[in-house]
Amino acid sequence: MDYEAARTALVNDFKAQIGDEQVLKAILRVPRELFVPPEEKHLAYEDRPLPIGMGQTISQPYIVAIMTEALELTGREKVLEIGTGSGYQTAVLAELSGLVITVERIPELALAAKDRLNVLGYKNIIVQIAEPDIGWQAEAPYDAIIVTAAAPFIPEKLLAQLAIGGRMVIPVGSRYEQDLYKVIKHKDKNEIHNLGGCRFVSLIGEDAWDEE
Ligand code: SAH
Repeated sequence: MDYEAARTALVNDFKAQIGDEQVLKAILRVPRELFVPPEEKHLAYEDRPLPIGMGQTISQPYIVAIMTEALELTGREKVLEIGTGSGYQTAVLAELSGLVITVERIPELALAAKDRLNVLGYKNIIVQIAEPDIGWQAEAPYDAIIVTAAAPFIPEKLLAQLAIGGRMVIPVGSRYEQDLYKVIKHKDKNEIHNLGGCRFVSLIGEDAWDEE
């Protein structure tokens, strides 16, 4: 299979909706087929999520594009990602920012993603295993925060880790369907935009859902 041709075709399909050229270029540089289980490689450029084991999924490429664009990255930012999963979204972020701290609660997934990202040569990614407190306080504040699991509400503890002027994207809703929110943090109040419906696996923890 010609993965490069499939990747180019997928990105071409995004052009009408995704205006940020840099985001499209970043997606063109990341081989999604290396982030899915071997038996699913032939599906890597279908625009849909795929199972990655441990009950989790790699996000749909179009959703990765929308979320990444919403962060308005210019190449210098310090970014926090909650929910490393396969590490695919992490790689796209690393293409567009200075440093990505990514946090994953399932150690097996965190370690597999770390290996994968090392093999691909990324030097600006730090993979951490999640602690009970949401996010990664030690490196705060972040210029951008992306949550790739569904939250019941916007966790205050996460907003506190965002710099003034920073952007956060997070799916918020029920366990089964959510809306994607973009939050811009201002000094006095936050600006919130609804980017539309989406469906993610649950964000688990004290500030989110209980494990099922
Ligand atoms: N961006 C990933 C999507 C992974 S699915 C990808 O494209 O592959 C969401 C991930 O969030 C799952 O791996 C899940 O284990 C993780 N997760 C859920 N709750 C979390 C929490 N509180 N902290 C860190 N990771 C969490």
